[in-house]
Amino acid sequence: MKFDLRKKPALLAITAAVIVLPAAAFIVGTVSGTDPVPQVSTSAAAATPPAIPALVVEPEPPGPLVHTVEIENGDNLMEVLVKAGAERADAYTAIQSLKGVYDPRRDLRVGDELQITLGPATDISRVAETPDYKLSSLRLPVTYDREVEVERADGDDFVAREIELPLTTELVRVSGAIDSSLFVNGRDAGIPISVLIELIRIYSFDVDFQRDIWSGDAFEIMFERQRNEDDAVVNNGDIHYAKLTLRGTGLPFYRFETSKGTIDYFNEKGESVRKALMKTPLDGARLSSRFGNRKHPILGYTRLHAGVDFAAPTGTPIYAAGDGTVEVASNKGGYGKYIRIRHNGTYSTAYAHLNGYARGVGSGKRVRQGQVIGYVGTTGSSTGPHLHYEIHRDGKQINPLGLKLPSGEKLKGDRLATFQSLRESVDARYASLAPPALSATADKSLTD
Ligand SMILES: [Zn+2]
Repeated sequence: MKFDLRKKPALLAITAAVIVLPAAAFIVGTVSGTDPVPQVSTSAAAATPPAIPALVVEPEPPGPLVHTVEIENGDNLMEVLVKAGAERADAYTAIQSLKGVYDPRRDLRVGDELQITLGPATDISRVAETPDYKLSSLRLPVTYDREVEVERADGDDFVAREIELPLTTELVRVSGAIDSSLFVNGRDAGIPISVLIELIRIYSFDVDFQRDIWSGDAFEIMFERQRNEDDAVVNNGDIHYAKLTLRGTGLPFYRFETSKGTIDYFNEKGESVRKALMKTPLDGARLSSRFGNRKHPILGYTRLHAGVDFAAPTGTPIYAAGDGTVEVASNKGGYGKYIRIRHNGTYSTAYAHLNGYARGVGSGKRVRQGQVIGYVGTTGSSTGPHLHYEIHRDGKQINPLGLKLPSGEKLKGDRLATFQSLRESVDARYASLAPPALSATADKSLTD
């Protein structure tokens, strides 16, 4: 753990008072004439006595000690509290009070900053002595918008409660042209990586980022951003609107609630972006081998290539092509490290030659569409880092690129009317936001 001890101003005042006290007594003594001369020569202050009224010192109650502790690998909450100065019994009771609100084994993470406050336990009359400090409160971060506070209640008891942090939300507009890739140009234009990943995920049902993006294509996006009380950005949130313009065709998407109450993205006609399975379950990959008969690169004879290969650097995240259950996540002969996900009664997808599995991905685990399940590698019979991707229909491999993907919900009636009015207000909001600095630069270059 990393300690940063901050004494509140009140305590600094005490320290000052303690230092000043003997000097004050001395000076007061000198002025009143009750103390004999000897000390005068030892004190320069005595030669020019300061104004007496300023030296009336009243003991102030000692202030609390506030420790900010950064959690490091291997720390546990009990030891952190004890090291910060809490008594073991207090630390234990405080941790017990967290039940149902905060689970240290799950919620305490490396990098978390804990605020541990120790209050003075001695009474004011003994201020000159070293005060005895006891754990009085504790603040634990949970998420960017929530934290848990534990406070000493009556006696030796502690009470924990969840606090919602006051945040302000703003909408951010970014747009630009694509001359490299959506990822590179979007990042350079100021789209945070987490938002960019979500943007790519939204479009990956419709867009093959390897083959569908051309120079001169463009993007627009409006997303949410949260700031804390110190005006620092603590979260980049939901995308409210996005539009890719590909070879002159605009593909706008709007965030909207489905009839089932979940959030999805819909095009201007009210059709869900969500498709049953992703065409390309990773970003920035190059299609290196298609489905069909080919001469096997290692075995040398012609056989069916029962999937498609995407060349990508080792470690590139691989997404679950759809919601489903992991059936296999283990070594499987020439496939090397292999994952198979069952999506529904008809479809499964398989991913081979992985470098490794994402945390928590194992046989029987539920995964969500777009969730990272593993990483590109070259395990098994493989000539270089790539993802071998298969779609199985009724247990038989089919050509993923030829699959006609069923579309998601299509809004109708009242839902469609509600969506259309939301769409208009989102468009108006987007137009009202300041255009990004980048397009201003581009306009300027045209006039130069
Ligand atoms: Zn392959």
